[in-house]
Amino acid sequence: MRAYAELHYGIRSYHIVGPHLVIWHFTATTTFSSVWNTFADDLPDVQYHVLPQVCAHFVIDTSGTIYQLVPLDLMCRQVVGLDYTAIGIENVGMSDQQVIGDSAQYHAALELTRWLRCRYDLPVRNVIGHNESLSSPYYIEHVASWRGQTHEDFNHHDMNIVRAAVAKLACRA
Ligand SMILES: [Zn+2]
Repeated sequence: MRAYAELHYGIRSYHIVGPHLVIWHFTATTTFSSVWNTFADDLPDVQYHVLPQVCAHFVIDTSGTIYQLVPLDLMCRQVVGLDYTAIGIENVGMSDQQVIGDSAQYHAALELTRWLRCRYDLPVRNVIGHNESLSSPYYIEHVASWRGQTHEDFNHHDMNIVRAAVAKLACRA
């Protein structure tokens, strides 16, 4: 991750900066085990064919069970351009709507987001979807051929729904 961070962000460290963002994803899989297997294999990723393997700090299963896979102070390859400063939450599922419509999973994701947002004193606008990555003011990508790359998960429309829900969850004293 240190080599990746130096190449793509100009940062000679694998330790997260901030973090300044919480980023929502869906996995495009139907089970936690398949996500685990993808993240754990220590092979180059399937899209860019580079190491380290893609990952996320948290995966939330359809049951609402939250798994933490990576310490919060480590960078994790989850979104091109933002890994240096973002905590990633992967939701097991095939679409934004599926996650938002699964009350157990959605509630868990919102509560985890509340905890992270309050822990790091982040404004609600810093909770974003993977699909919003290119418009983030934190976006950095030093490798020209990688610029402009994003994924379809959690678009602006659906993240406005999520952010409205997050805004109702005040930080506890
Ligand atoms: Zn994603």
